[in-house]
Amino acid sequence: MVTMEDIQAAGERIRNMVRETPVKASASLSALAGGPVWLKCEHRQETGAFKLRGASNAVARLGDVAGVTTASTGNHGRALAHAARQLGMPAVICVSRLVPQNKLAAIEALGAEARVIGASQDEAFDEAYRLKHDEGFALIPPFDHEDVIAGQGTLGMEIIRQIPDAATLAIPLSGGGLLAGVALAAKSLRPDIRIVGISMERGAAMAASLKADHPVEVEELETLADSLGGGIGLKNRFTFPMVRELMDELILLSEDEIAAGIRHLALEDNEVVEGAAAVGSGAIIAGKLQAAGGPLVLILSGANIDPERHAEIVRGAQ
Ligand SMILES: *Cc1c(COP(=O)(O)O)cnc(C)c1O
Repeated sequence: MVTMEDIQAAGERIRNMVRETPVKASASLSALAGGPVWLKCEHRQETGAFKLRGASNAVARLGDVAGVTTASTGNHGRALAHAARQLGMPAVICVSRLVPQNKLAAIEALGAEARVIGASQDEAFDEAYRLKHDEGFALIPPFDHEDVIAGQGTLGMEIIRQIPDAATLAIPLSGGGLLAGVALAAKSLRPDIRIVGISMERGAAMAASLKADHPVEVEELETLADSLGGGIGLKNRFTFPMVRELMDELILLSEDEIAAGIRHLALEDNEVVEGAAAVGSGAIIAGKLQAAGGPLVLILSGANIDPERHAEIVRGAQ
């Protein structure tokens, strides 16, 4: 089980490995949401996503291992590669063929090996599992791991310090490591805060699992929010129960709504974010999310989008 004490300890442990990211008011989204909207600019984190927090905490807690490995849709792999290099450890990142080229190049630029295996995250995971069992690597999963969740929770502590009167946090949701950690920290400090998770309509495994009341598999589909793809693991231990307990509301967005979120942040707020990070903005524009009873904080979770693709979306070509 992950506790608030674990999150506080993670904050101390990774203090020199991650950046504190800024918050910024959005006048245009505030007008649409009927109350103050703040952007938590975690897409400006080192490696371009919040995943560095969890990966840094997990790697910093390891003893003597041959190296670290994971199967990742991109941002976690990149974060793990960066954290391993900072601590002088070899890293092998196993990814599926669906992962975009720019993300593979970024992993190799960080000094890790990117091993492309299989058509789904589950197949890539088998290779990481083999490295753990046959070669003495530590397998650091992208979300369902106590140290990873505690590391992501440091983002929740930071938000409450920056916006003490936050009433609602809107959190991109895939495997649930981000939501579980941030919600635990935020609700420990502000028990009345409202936690809203946002996923895409196409292939959201956590949404399907909550509906079934146990972890289920869904078909992995291409989506603009590619960092929100992938399963939650049929043997999910931590994030599924934590999300079920801590999340107050779940919003699902169409591809057009996600594109509108990306476009709005680029044109009105001057922020380049990837699809997964634009779901809060997309939900407000779609009329699915309001600022009720106090400030609404959107977590801009990552910036890793192909620049050509981003330009097309902003032009409205999609
Ligand atoms: C991983 C990721 C998410 C989702 O995080 P989970 O812990 O899997 O729910 C959201 N946005 C970005 C940019 C990510 O990389």
